[in-house]
Amino acid sequence: MPLVSMRQLLDEAAKGGYGVGAFNVNNMEQIQAIMEAARETESPVIIQASRGARSYSQDRFLYHLMLAATELYPEIPTVLHLDHGNSPETCQSAIDLGFTSVMMDGSLLADGKTPSSYEYNVDVTRKVVAAAHAKGVTVEAEIGCLGGIEDGHGAGGSGMEHLTDPTQAEQFVKDTNCDALAIAIGTSHGAYKFTRKPDGEVLKMDVLIDIHKRIPTTHLVMHGSSSVPKDLQDIINQYGGSLKPTWGVPVEEIQIGIKNGVRKINVDTDNRLAMTGAIRKVLMETPEKFDPRDYMKPAREAMKKVVAQRMVQFGQAGKAKSITPIPLPEIAKLYA
Ligand SMILES: [Zn+2]
Repeated sequence: MPLVSMRQLLDEAAKGGYGVGAFNVNNMEQIQAIMEAARETESPVIIQASRGARSYSQDRFLYHLMLAATELYPEIPTVLHLDHGNSPETCQSAIDLGFTSVMMDGSLLADGKTPSSYEYNVDVTRKVVAAAHAKGVTVEAEIGCLGGIEDGHGAGGSGMEHLTDPTQAEQFVKDTNCDALAIAIGTSHGAYKFTRKPDGEVLKMDVLIDIHKRIPTTHLVMHGSSSVPKDLQDIINQYGGSLKPTWGVPVEEIQIGIKNGVRKINVDTDNRLAMTGAIRKVLMETPEKFDPRDYMKPAREAMKKVVAQRMVQFGQAGKAKSITPIPLPEIAKLYA
């Protein structure tokens, strides 16, 4: 099965009332972990690469690994998505390479740090929508700014400084015709999201619900949605790491989001924690080992476990079979 349109996957998710995890990758083991989890749970899946990941993998390595994934797991509908494209040029380069979905994050200027104006955001997003839809490629946009910084990208802060204004979100979708919209409701990127377990007050679920009511057919995206589980933190610290105590987004809150229009949930930190914990454990317990496979295999297995668990929690498990991919040129005709 070739790589599929994210719009198609999210439309199906909306019909079925479930969410789809979007997992970040940089290398082969991470792609394998996700595909194995998808096979085990029979899930459609979104694999995403940031600008940092594209540069780490020199683009071509990543793309060909993804082609290998589609060959080896033909039964899994798989999207390749660009995470946080910083300019129309970056998005275009992903479209040219064969990504089936791109994020134009015009909530920040092209430096990936400075919050932009509404007009700038509309302008760059419109450009990307025109180029992407002509090829049947999906566009995710962002309004409001997430907190934190990851891979050098982000507005910083706690995530409360630039919450999404629901009225503006409604206007933005009218002005840009984007397929999916990342909203800022108090989440942030990275491992250090909250200093206490967040509840419905810390995460602005009322803002999310208001946005969904205004734009019910736009697929909402939750960024920075790792749960940062205590057991994964503990493994790292038990084997020589030194993470400070931290809390992520509880899965129950994400599930409330899914009931209210959230269709794509970005998870990266949890997988990083799982892999690093597994590697630390092998290296501490068996210091005589030096074959990278001795620690990469358990690392891959640990990530697979987390991904499979999220697939079940988000509701995408068992849904792979219900999706018959529409070729991108057909999708382009639907947009036209
Ligand atoms: Zn993000």
